[in-house]
This record gives sequence, C-alpha cells and structure tokens, in this order.
Amino acid sequence: CGIFGVIGVQDASTFVALGLHALQHRGQEAGGIVSHAPETGFNQARRFGYVRDNFTSQKIMETLPGPISIGHVRYSTSGSKGQTAIRDVQPFFGEFSMGGAAIAHNGNITNANALRRELIERGSIFQSSSDSECIIHLMARSMGRSIPDRMEEALRKVEGAFSVVAMTRTKLIGVRDPLGVRPLVLGKIGDGWALSSETCALDIIGAEFVREIRPGEMVVINGNGVQSHFPFRPQPSRFCIFEHVYFSRPDSILGGRSVYETRENIGRELAKESPVDADLVCPVPDSGTPAAIGYSLQSGIPYAMGIIRNQYMGRTFIEPTEQIRNMGVRLKLNVNRALIKDKRVILVDDSVVRGTTSRKIKEMILDAGAKEVHFRIASPPTAWPCFYGVDTPQREKLLAATMSEEEMRAHLEVDSLKFISLDGLYRAVGETQGRSKDCPQYCDACFSGEYPVKPADMVEQGFVM
Ligand code: 5GP
Ligand code: SF4
Ligand code: MG
Repeated sequence: CGIFGVIGVQDASTFVALGLHALQHRGQEAGGIVSHAPETGFNQARRFGYVRDNFTSQKIMETLPGPISIGHVRYSTSGSKGQTAIRDVQPFFGEFSMGGAAIAHNGNITNANALRRELIERGSIFQSSSDSECIIHLMARSMGRSIPDRMEEALRKVEGAFSVVAMTRTKLIGVRDPLGVRPLVLGKIGDGWALSSETCALDIIGAEFVREIRPGEMVVINGNGVQSHFPFRPQPSRFCIFEHVYFSRPDSILGGRSVYETRENIGRELAKESPVDADLVCPVPDSGTPAAIGYSLQSGIPYAMGIIRNQYMGRTFIEPTEQIRNMGVRLKLNVNRALIKDKRVILVDDSVVRGTTSRKIKEMILDAGAKEVHFRIASPPTAWPCFYGVDTPQREKLLAATMSEEEMRAHLEVDSLKFISLDGLYRAVGETQGRSKDCPQYCDACFSGEYPVKPADMVEQGFVM
C-alpha cells in the first residue's frame, strides 16, 4: 500500500491526492483521504479504483477541506482479498476521549488474528476485516493521555511490518516498525510538512525530501515542528529488499540510493553472474527495464524494446484473481514482432512468482519468430510467501517452492533461465561484502525463508517456516 500525509498547508487534501497518485503503483484497488478543518471537523472519502478517477474533481475535494490530511492507496494483502469491501478501505477513523484520529497503514500485522480475537472478547466492535483496524481498537483500550501516547502503546503490542501515517485535529504522526520493513519519508512543503511512502510523491507536490523516518521512530508534527521518539526496543533494521527490486518506483530514493541505479546494478550483476551469447536484451516492461539496461551495458549486447507495454493497464500482479491475471499479461504486453524475428533474445524481468508472466511472454516471443529465449531474473527465486505487506501467493503456488532452477527452466520451456544470487542482489544494493549470514542487512524472507518476525497468525494456521 501507499500512505501519504500533509500538515500546515492550505487545502492539504489536494496535496494528498497528488501524493497518492504518485504512489498508485503501491496499490490500485482503492483509495481514501481524511482531512480536518476547524469549521467542519473530520471529513472522509473512500473509493474503489484509481486516485485520478476519484480524487480530482472539485466536487469531491471541496468535501475534504483543511490544513491537515492523510490518505492511503490499497493493495489487499490482508482482509477481504479479491473483493475488497469499502469498509476495508483506509484511512480508519476512531473517536477517543481526547478527540478523533485517523490512521493509514502500510505493511502487515503478523499477530492480527490473535489481537482481533482478544479485542473482540473484550468488547471491541470491528468494522472491517483488515488487520490494520486492530491499531484503532488497541488505542481505544489504552489509558494514554494523548493520541500519540495511545498509538505508541498500541503499536508496542503489534507485531510485523508497519509504516503508519496518522492525524489528529492538530498533529500529523508518522511511525515505522522497529525493523523498518516498509519505507516512510519526511518532506518539507512551504511552511508545512509531508510524510510519504516514497520520495517520488514528494517530488510531484514540490516538497523537499528531508530524511527517512528511522526504523522504530515515531514523529509527531504540529505547528511547532517535528518531534521524534523511539518507543520500541532498538533492533538491527531489516528493510524490505524487494522494495529495491520491484515495489518502489525507480525515481524514488531508498536508503540514500536511487532505486533506478540499484536496479541497473542488479542487471550488471546478473550479466556478470550469468552471461549468455545473444542478439538482444529486452526488458519485460516496466518492472524489468532498469535491470535490462544494466544487463545490456555490462554485456555489450544491444538493448531493445522487444515487448511493448500498453500504458493504460495497471500492474498485473496486483489484480487479485487468477483469471484477471491470466488475461492481464496479454492485455498489457505485446511483442514487437519486426524486432524479434530470428533473434536470440535475453528477457529480463524483476521476478518469477507463479510463472504466469514468464510463460505467456515466452509463448509470445516464440510466436514472433525468436530463435532462442533466455530469461534473466533480477531477484533470487521467490520460494516463500511474504507476510509483511507484499501479496505473494501461498507457498504451493510459488514456482520456486517446488522446483529447482533447472526444473523451472524446463517448465517454462526456455533455452536458459538464471536468477541473480542473493549475494549478488546485496552487492547491487550497495553491500559490497554481500549478505551478512549472522544478521542480514535486509528482510529477504521471500527468497531465503528467514523471517525476521515470526508470522504468528500463519504459524497458528499451520504454516511451517
Ligand atoms: P508471475 O507472473 O510469475 O506470477 O509474477 C511475476 C510478475 O509479477 C513480474 O513481472 C513482476 O513484475 C510482477 N509482480 C507484481 N507485483 C508483484 C509482487 O508483489 N511480487 C512479485 N514477486 N512480483 C510481482
Ligand atoms: Fe520484502 Fe520479501 Fe521481506 Fe516481504 S518477505 S518484506 S517482499 S523482502
Ligand atoms: Mg513485471
């Protein structure tokens, strides 16, 4: 998901709408915005679909006045998967003795089922099926004297991955979980401030990137500026390495590094680790593009747009049902026939999950008359599901969970298939020594199976780590 918040500017919600539009790649199912104005109190709008279709008209933006606003774009990783109900669309709102608060959450709470059971037993009335709603109920039960105090107390009970943007009548609040799994950055806009999942959204509203919120940090922003706390037990950080590979936009800065450059580095590492003689390097657009450029630069094999993407389709993976996903590939990607005919082609993509994309693309490329097809993948085999906010399917559906690299190659019927090594990926993100075995610098559980936070709900349901 994508989260964004603004305080201290007129019509804050219009900036939030623009910010969410720039974060649309993080969630396309639905979006919501909350604002507060002294005259109207809290206002809220939640809609299915794209930000550009819902939050651009004057009619709706007029209903969201005031100098404080937060918003969320949703990609369902928990809750009613497939058919998101409007009640699962964030931000969530709660009234407390000291006033109202709205929260928007990116990530996944790994002990949400246990928390929900306990809260319901003690009288909480849940409105949604979302894991994030637990935070509101935990806040309601807290005896803390201010909303930030209550949030701190609530979040200390929550396990898993969370970046949170929240607001009260007068404050904008940002928090990252102790491991810092999901991103969150601080920006300055005029006399006000912004919080965003990614820096690309600061750019489009003309905000200046100040810094990342640190893992385990809570910032409380009001008219007096930014106050920082560290409410959790300090731990070594474990940022999601897949943000670098796929999830974040290439024009964002993560951990002081350009995502684009990192992806180009991944392509270079791939070319060093797994060279092959061929005529063309083609990306599977758009997610494979920077890595394909890197592969081409490193290998000297010409880069070409052998597959053309229809710009009006969203990210296929994010459409939740299998049927839509299957159609999606063909609706979204088409082979540039004239270019491909009689060529030996290297195809670069960011990941292989179920193998749907790769299989379809290989068929299309062979149909177009390619002589050879070589896949190069910018991440290690995805053999484990993510429980921290990226919607990978159950383990059984992951190609790499049951097949070796050679078995996957045979299954996809391609001439070669190579994934970047885990160490190669770490080198590409700037860890020159590769991955530290004792304490990996990132979360890489979907590749390594080493989960930095025990996924308690899943283990309870029988998941074997
Ligand atoms: P597959 O078709 O193998 O199931 O999925 C791989 C494709 O899904 C890649 O082209 C990748 O760009 C895309 N993708 C979109 N979202 C995700 C995600 O959340 N995780 C992963 N691993 N791949 C994703
Ligand atoms: Fe990111 Fe993978 Fe860890 Fe999920 S399991 S947080 S996708 S690295
Ligand atoms: Mg892709």
